[in-house]
Amino acid sequence: MAEIPHEAVTVLGLSAMGHALAGALVASGHPTTVWNRTPGRGDDLVEVGAARASSVAEAVGVNDLVIAVLLDHASVHETLDPVIARLRGRQLINLTSTTPEHARELARWAAANGVGYLDGGIMAVPSMIGQPGASILYSGERAVFESNRSLLESLAAAEYLGEDPGLASTYDFALLSVMYSMFAGFFHGAAMVRSVGVSAAEFGERASGWVTAMAHGLPEYGRTIDSGDYTTDVQHLGFQKAALDAIVTASRDAGVALDVIAPVKNLIDRQVADGHGDLAFARTFEELR
Ligand code: NDP
Repeated sequence: MAEIPHEAVTVLGLSAMGHALAGALVASGHPTTVWNRTPGRGDDLVEVGAARASSVAEAVGVNDLVIAVLLDHASVHETLDPVIARLRGRQLINLTSTTPEHARELARWAAANGVGYLDGGIMAVPSMIGQPGASILYSGERAVFESNRSLLESLAAAEYLGEDPGLASTYDFALLSVMYSMFAGFFHGAAMVRSVGVSAAEFGERASGWVTAMAHGLPEYGRTIDSGDYTTDVQHLGFQKAALDAIVTASRDAGVALDVIAPVKNLIDRQVADGHGDLAFARTFEELR
């Protein structure tokens, strides 16, 4: 049976993430052209078969598909504005982290210049790229996603969220908000147990199991929020207030700063003060909107 040819692709940006993505593309057999603003990156990619473009104009001109893995929204414009005429008729997949509004702006800019546009949020660190467990969320032009689906699957599990180009970034940053809050909570807890001589490594083992068990409750919290019905028989906000008051006092007694836990206590205190003490903890969602 004849082999299906692999699509050729250009990768702009060869720092940790761009390098990992370009490496996965080369490894999966895609003819890959690479470019980085500062010379000296990506020699190892060239050794395994990548072609190096000597300018960004050359890089975007040689292939119909261009993947940008730069620093931020401004760096995408700075890199591509001068060569936008060369991108006309081609496809741009932007894996640079941007805000949802910046992703929408880039999609409008691409459309105005005749460029197909897909935005992506990388839910992985560089060492995970090309491995099971890595995923990238996409939004924007469905046709750009569909026509490159197998190439994108060689980077990470690829999920298309919808036509709004800001969707991938919204999910990306929402998931990162969950992650940062969880890690910050761990740092707080580790500081508390350090006051009684427990190592952070030991606490990490214990907290990992605890967080995993608690995470199973998230879909149920979600269903409660979507129903808008916060009535509950168990662990209402008044109960949570007593718990948070005790945790804050214990933290203070242990000499642990309250930067992480105090905002949670404030959210609960405010709701109880406003007369919502009988409702479920999930009502906090309403307080945040
Ligand atoms: P780095 O900060 O290490 O690298 C940034 C890259 O952008 C470099 O190649 C740099 O080139 C280039 N760059 C910066 N400014 C400009 C500019 N004005 N013009 C042209 N090129 C520019 O980032 P990472 O490789 O870690 O990440 C790349 C993107 O991937 C980021 O948006 C990041 O948020 C996202 N990402 C990264 C993850 C990670 O774990 N690393 C995880 C998920 C997403 P130069 O070498 O010349 O400085």
